[in-house]
Amino acid sequence: MNSITRNIDALVKELPGNVSIVAVSKTRSPEEVLEAFNAGLHTFGENRVQELAAKKAALPDGINWHLIGHLQSNKVRQAVASASVIESVDSIRLLGMIDSEAARQKKIIDCLLQVHIALEETKSGFSINEIEDTDWTSRAASLTNVRICGLMGIASFTDNMDKVRSEFRSLSRLYRETRLRCFSNYGWFTQLSMGMSGDWRIAVDEGSTMIRVGTLIFGERIKK
Ligand SMILES: *Cc1c(COP(=O)(O)O)cnc(C)c1O
Repeated sequence: MNSITRNIDALVKELPGNVSIVAVSKTRSPEEVLEAFNAGLHTFGENRVQELAAKKAALPDGINWHLIGHLQSNKVRQAVASASVIESVDSIRLLGMIDSEAARQKKIIDCLLQVHIALEETKSGFSINEIEDTDWTSRAASLTNVRICGLMGIASFTDNMDKVRSEFRSLSRLYRETRLRCFSNYGWFTQLSMGMSGDWRIAVDEGSTMIRVGTLIFGERIKK
């Protein structure tokens, strides 16, 4: 058994059955993705639209592609055409642009709202306050081709696991409150995407429904 398959088997054994895996394949070759696909993973995440579209074209149709990196407005068309989920929606304006483009392409696209929970300012997303202060019920009602399916967040890059846990806990609370407050009539608001290779166990502990792991499956990324 090769190491990608072994890594996946080990993860699947340990992960609770109700938590899904997004295999983060940025910088990995189509061959590596194919190995992971053959080992049973069907959802892959990319942080750049062009790389996502190129891999989608080179790989089996049965793969679901998630966009997990910041989406620029000039790439919305390509993102809507190739992704099945956009996890990194970080503004109301972007949400509207995705909706119009999806209507034009006659498709329904699932989106997550990215929330900024980390210390680092480089990470994008809505603030917790913005999520709390927005009437998402009327927002969602105004969208014809986007389904808001939940929240996504990235914890601080730190060795302080108490800090990471408290960030995940805040996001998890926000997810449950927002679902109750605004999405009780939207049955598809069910996803809390949090947890990466270094912190996925804590994220799952705190209520994650979807982890995004790259290194854990494919090994260390070569930095370019
Ligand atoms: C790269 C990336 C991941 C995966 O990181 P690993 O540490 O390799 O698991 C998860 N989420 C986002 C948004 C990423 O950009």
